[in-house]
Amino acid sequence: MINSHHTIGIVLKRNNYGEADRLVVVFTEKFGKITLIAKGVRRLKSKIAGSIELFSISDLTVSKGKNLFVLTASSMIKPFKPHQDLAEIKLASLISEIIIKTIPDESPNNKVFNLLYESFSAFGLGLKLNILSSYFASSYIYLSGVSPNLDTCIQCGSKPKDTIFFSNLGNGLLDKDCTSLFPDAQEITQNTVKAWRFSIENDLTRFRLLKISNNDLNQLTYFTTNYLKQNIQITIKSDLL
Ligand SMILES: [Zn+2]
Repeated sequence: MINSHHTIGIVLKRNNYGEADRLVVVFTEKFGKITLIAKGVRRLKSKIAGSIELFSISDLTVSKGKNLFVLTASSMIKPFKPHQDLAEIKLASLISEIIIKTIPDESPNNKVFNLLYESFSAFGLGLKLNILSSYFASSYIYLSGVSPNLDTCIQCGSKPKDTIFFSNLGNGLLDKDCTSLFPDAQEITQNTVKAWRFSIENDLTRFRLLKISNNDLNQLTYFTTNYLKQNIQITIKSDLL
């Protein structure tokens, strides 16, 4: 087939369509986010059904139709097998929802693809979910170009020493003297700020080995996910983050 393309994709959403078909939203390496039609996959004998499971990573062969991409073949690279419980499914749903709502169709983005690839590869490995959610949040904040100032006070420019605060409204750190100007400022530990920087500068393989207390990790999850929610301006259905 002339119009046939090979690409790796992460399945973000599936809906039944017609008698036996499915519409599948996939983030692909080659085309970015696309919707493809998987014909006949709800029939028992379908050969491609198993490899387009929700949140799996698959090798796809697609052809581009007039309006939709058509899935012609696929094979599973990594299935989505939650290790713990519902929380992993919720987090995967949330990541999908964020990507679907914030990334336009058919705009390839290798950095987002790589982030999704490493995040979805990590499900089922028994990783603490706060590691994964804070890593995804801080990386996606960075890739979206809305990183906060994590070095100096956003108001006076000095390096905060003992007590540090963080403001979503001000997009960064504050020292004690300047907090009164930002009503949403909340205290944040030095180690949380360090871990936030570390998560931007390193991949997940390194970030997951970072020595961090539960308290600082919970704080990191809290601050990064709140900041992401505020800056991407979408209504998120899931209540996990
Ligand atoms: Zn200041």
